[in-house]
Amino acid sequence: MTTQTTTHEFQAETKRLLDIVIHSLYTERDIFVRELISNASDALEKFRHESLTADDVFDAHLPLEISIDLDEEKRTMTITDTGIGMNRHELEANLGTIAHSGSSSFMSGLAEAAKKDVSLIGQFGVGFYAAFMAAGEVRVQSRSWDGSEGHEWVSDGAGTYSISEVAGLQRGTRIIMALKDDAHDYAKKWKVENIIKQYSSFVPFPIKLAGETVNTVSALWTRSKSEITEQEYTDFYKFIATAHDEPQYRLHFSADAPLAIKALLFVPKENFEIMGFGRVDSGVNLYCQRILIDQHSENVLPEWLRFLKGVMDSEDLPLNISRQSLQDNALLAKLRKVITKRFLKFLDEQAQENPEAYLAFWKTFGIYLKEGITSDYEFQKELGKLVRFESSRSEAGTPIALAAYVERMKEGQEAIYYINGSSRAAIEAGPYVESFTQKNIEILYTLEPIDDFVLSHLAEFDGKKLISADRADLDLSKNETLEEKKEGEHLEDGAKAVLISWLKATLADKVADVIESKRLVSAPAMIVNPDNYMTSSMERIMAASRREKGQEAVTSKKNLEINTTSPLIQRLAALQKSDEAFAAEVAAQIYDNAMIQAGLVVDPLTMVERNYRILGRALGGE
Ligand code: ADP
Ligand code: MG
Repeated sequence: MTTQTTTHEFQAETKRLLDIVIHSLYTERDIFVRELISNASDALEKFRHESLTADDVFDAHLPLEISIDLDEEKRTMTITDTGIGMNRHELEANLGTIAHSGSSSFMSGLAEAAKKDVSLIGQFGVGFYAAFMAAGEVRVQSRSWDGSEGHEWVSDGAGTYSISEVAGLQRGTRIIMALKDDAHDYAKKWKVENIIKQYSSFVPFPIKLAGETVNTVSALWTRSKSEITEQEYTDFYKFIATAHDEPQYRLHFSADAPLAIKALLFVPKENFEIMGFGRVDSGVNLYCQRILIDQHSENVLPEWLRFLKGVMDSEDLPLNISRQSLQDNALLAKLRKVITKRFLKFLDEQAQENPEAYLAFWKTFGIYLKEGITSDYEFQKELGKLVRFESSRSEAGTPIALAAYVERMKEGQEAIYYINGSSRAAIEAGPYVESFTQKNIEILYTLEPIDDFVLSHLAEFDGKKLISADRADLDLSKNETLEEKKEGEHLEDGAKAVLISWLKATLADKVADVIESKRLVSAPAMIVNPDNYMTSSMERIMAASRREKGQEAVTSKKNLEINTTSPLIQRLAALQKSDEAFAAEVAAQIYDNAMIQAGLVVDPLTMVERNYRILGRALGGE
């Protein structure tokens, strides 16, 4: 005999996962059947696709199907498929390691999720290991479609597995499970039949249980909408997404021109990416005439729609297209555009119909639409309609659409204004909104660090420019009516000129320029950006990322606008004449305060020491 048995250790992450699986709650155990059937189905789909182009396939005569055999006496369950199979190397790579295990945060996220709800594990590409919930020993016999010799993989899940050669296997994979003492029910036909009905009714291949086919094979997306029940849709979603939640939105559509498309797309309820599980993979499968061409395809939709689950089927694609050539297929690029536009239009319709539900969607998945704006120029117009931000006129926590802003813009107002801050309260206490409040102009609050990048990429909406309120050249006077003209006592012109040129000199290493403000109302000063493509919030992010890379976090010099009607600035002008050294301290402190209000970094040590010196003087010290 040439049979050679080798024993291998599971990868550390796999061991940890197995430990969780083996000790998980029994109530959720049923899902192991679903996971194994889903793997069998995947293997059959892969085989069907490969065999379209291959000249010669091993065991070509075998029908494409899944068989489940139960033995109540021996207490075993056996699941057999005639799919693509695995050779020795693939057995080792696929059933000994976890494909996504790259990041340790992924593993700890997964471990947490699995502890709470083990049915989540299918979503993380580790469904096979669920077999150990019910089986004390799992044997996987597999023979690849390449016809190379078959092998058997055996493990009790405790830390090692072994692989040996087995002669005479047919193409595909057979999984033989010796059921644990408390899992004997899984050798009973009624039990298994129920599980298949519940979880696996959409498997596109016959599932034979004790010789009888128990599912009806049909591609849901090709049926007409009126014939499909809500329950079927939800079940289908759970099936293709290996999800346990219900979808938040569903779009089922077909088109004949310019291309024949049938698509069924779902938005999940939960966003695993923001829950800390790392980047999600695309969840849309590409079919051609009901044959799976590319599972979790990267090519059907733009990357920023990777949160969607579902299928897309087009008769126009050549059946024998290889997965490699999908990437630069012109037809697929066209399909991508049509579907993306259709989906974005759908979201807009949903937003009109039920704004509250849309806000729930926006809070969970809005981040992806923002990513779309910054990474994809093609859909900016559509995406602009879908973004939501809080504003000076919105309620806290209830962001508004740009269209709502435009609708109530003042006569003569030409632009849409926004300002970034860490919270509503922080923005409203800061200097940037003062003049907007006074002039009764609405201003958007961008509360997320990336928002200013998003709006600067978007650049305009409905023909109106999007302008950050910390821009140096901001001019609200066009919106000003006569009686709103700024009141209050200004410094007399000569004193003003002296103060400004002195400030420029004393703050020379910090500021680009010092300017008399035309818009501050009561705040003494503020920082504005002379570079129109940069806002303070963008600057802050870029500085942080430079620091992360170990580079020096230099920020460009800003303009300091001073309010010459402010009593503090007026007293500073006087102080400069009587005690220049102390005036310089006050000037530096005003600058630091304005930087902090802009969300920019100051040197805290220097600032605090100076602050104490100033307090000392205020309390009558030297
Ligand atoms: P996933 O299915 O999400 O990739 P699993 O843990 O369920 O994760 O399976 C791991 C891998 O093992 C699969 O990607 C596949 O390559 C391989 N595999 C599992 N079951 C089969 C099978 N019945 N036939 C062929 N390959 C299989
Ligand atoms: Mg799987």
